[in-house]
Amino acid sequence: MTVQISRALIDQMIAHAASEPTREVCGLLLGAGHAVAEVQACANVAAEPATSFEIDPAALIAAHKSARAGGLAVVGCYHSHPNGSLALSPRDVASAYEGQIWALIADGRVAAWVMEDGVI
Ligand SMILES: [Zn+2]
Repeated sequence: MTVQISRALIDQMIAHAASEPTREVCGLLLGAGHAVAEVQACANVAAEPATSFEIDPAALIAAHKSARAGGLAVVGCYHSHPNGSLALSPRDVASAYEGQIWALIADGRVAAWVMEDGVI
């Protein structure tokens, strides 16, 4: 499975992560299928943002409403690991949705996965 995303959008996620180096930052990937057309930074509302993330539910609902109204689909999400690990945590894997792109930023690098048949 190939994820399509432009260098400019990758740089946008890296800049977001760099802006808050001690917290996990997060956001939504918008587009179609596995092609990302836009990244949308969202607030991390997790209780412990240094080691976990939870996308602001209001932003998530707004994005899905926009998609239903003909806007870009929510095709995945991104978050950062301030500890520099470019590997999904067990919690990340447990939270993944089938077919959704998971992009991870750590130390200025980005990796992306797509869960298929329950495997990510
Ligand atoms: Zn994570």
